[in-house]
Amino acid sequence: MAEKVLLVKFGEVAMRGDNQYIFINRLILAIRRNLDPVGHYYVVREPGRLIVEDRGGEMDYDTVIPRVEPIFGLVGLCPGLKLDEMSLETLKKDALAHMQEMYGDKPMTFKVNARRSNKGFEARSQQICEDVGEYILDNMPNMKVNVKTPDVVLYVEVRNRIYLYSKVIKTYGGLPYGSSGKGVSLLSGGIDSPVATWMMAKRGVEVEGVYFHSPPYTSEWAKQKVIDLAKRIADFTGSFKLYVVPFTDLQLYLLENVPHDKLTIHLKRAMMRAAEQIAVKDGAWSLITGESVGQVASQTMQGIYAINAVCNMPVLRPLAGMDKQEIIDIGTKIGTYDISIRPYEDCCTIFVAKHPQIKPRLHVIERIEKKLTDLDQHIADAVEKAEVIEL
Ligand code: ATP
Ligand code: MG
Repeated sequence: MAEKVLLVKFGEVAMRGDNQYIFINRLILAIRRNLDPVGHYYVVREPGRLIVEDRGGEMDYDTVIPRVEPIFGLVGLCPGLKLDEMSLETLKKDALAHMQEMYGDKPMTFKVNARRSNKGFEARSQQICEDVGEYILDNMPNMKVNVKTPDVVLYVEVRNRIYLYSKVIKTYGGLPYGSSGKGVSLLSGGIDSPVATWMMAKRGVEVEGVYFHSPPYTSEWAKQKVIDLAKRIADFTGSFKLYVVPFTDLQLYLLENVPHDKLTIHLKRAMMRAAEQIAVKDGAWSLITGESVGQVASQTMQGIYAINAVCNMPVLRPLAGMDKQEIIDIGTKIGTYDISIRPYEDCCTIFVAKHPQIKPRLHVIERIEKKLTDLDQHIADAVEKAEVIEL
């Protein structure tokens, strides 16, 4: 009897030369971490593929696929069969059984695509295609062959064992989580920063979040929203460390001591400095923000310049060149958008300037900050008092 398995395809990872081994191990660990809580699964390594097998009985794809799908570095999941015999006769029968189970008697077109890396097998790829195709045609009157644009391609991979599948579920791609160093993400409850955080995590960056909280001016609801966003990101990354940094005192200090139209720029600079201190402490190499060029007053090129000047670390801005709608589309796909647009009320808008300065000049901003003798201490205190939430 053929066994139901999940064939897992990985992308860019395959090209990484010497690192390949480490990368693939990360993928195996991630798959096992996600599947261990729900059964007895085993991950077998084949050249260019990982094969997930269920040692506890027949595989239930509705349980397995949603848990493997979010893993970064994977490009496709194929529910398929692992055959128990290395013979063309068995292959023909199992291929037919697979096609019947998947497509019943719906009228459709198909072709067979066979790859034989095990040269000891009795038939060559071309012959496998012909024999299996003919057997299916003979036994499924609803099926027709179409070599150019078939509805279904039946893939046959003859390795140490024979695998077959006909459905490829496309996944996110990217690089294995944690394979690209660490970054600290400035995570607000908005639409953009969760998407930015997710995008860098997808590129293998181990991410931590920093949220600047200013009670009572920002509500507990706002904080809860950020926690829920962090949880959603953890569905992809496995875990997520969130710092909630109390920023009320610092914000009130700025409110009193800087011109109102420059408040946002000074506040953003303070956020960057606090985040960078946390990043240094935690061994991170970069900061991440959800800034998008031109989106709001503080995200003009001059605004970004003035904010950026306060950091030594590279600031990754994966959304810099994206339109709002593109960001919303990603947020919707990854399940952060619905959390981000949850309504909540902050009690007061005293920190929001009616006419924020759109083109701040760095030397002016720096001159003002030179006089803010307590600023460093406020930042240090805020970082010191941060609440750490492990998700
Ligand atoms: P978002 O949708 O991510 O809130 P935004 O469009 O509201 O972004 P801004 O308010 O200008 O834009 O913020 C720019 C970036 O600064 C955010 O994407 C986020 O990375 C960071 N940021 C802003 N406010 C906070 C906060 N309270 N805590 C942590 N990071 C913040
Ligand atoms: Mg915001």
